[in-house]
Amino acid sequence: MKIKIETLSNAPGKTFTYDFTVAEAALSLNEEDMQVTAPLEVQMRAAYRDEKVEVEGSLRTRVILTCSRCLKRFLFSVNEEFADEMPMENEAEIDLSLLAREILITMLPYKPLCQAACQGLCPTCGSDLNEKQCCCPVDNVDPRLSVLKKLLE
Ligand SMILES: [Zn+2]
Ligand SMILES: [Zn+2]
Repeated sequence: MKIKIETLSNAPGKTFTYDFTVAEAALSLNEEDMQVTAPLEVQMRAAYRDEKVEVEGSLRTRVILTCSRCLKRFLFSVNEEFADEMPMENEAEIDLSLLAREILITMLPYKPLCQAACQGLCPTCGSDLNEKQCCCPVDNVDPRLSVLKKLLE
């Protein structure tokens, strides 16, 4: 979805509405730890003001993410509003699909968590601590050594 800047700049201050979807594959965001599973639905309003294009609207899609603690995959729903502005210099057009893709990336968590209280994996045996508590000692540092460690800090 590309629009000509001219369309906007010929009517400064006027709001134009663009509703469109971007197919999952066209987003090319799919990696091993992330899969977009629904088309990106975009509702965008754009207006030209003071040599800038102001955009706002909302994005909707679903993404399968990988929990950064327990490595389980989980479904993450995106349904968020955004507002942004871009200075225009010599651009003749804006690719709104590309813009929506960039905004979507900012909405995805940097360290995804399947749940806020995810217990993660045991560093010793690798079991999922959300499912069961393993028998590995929580802290296998000798208490006397840990006093020493404190002194060294
Ligand atoms: Zn998790
Ligand atoms: Zn363990």
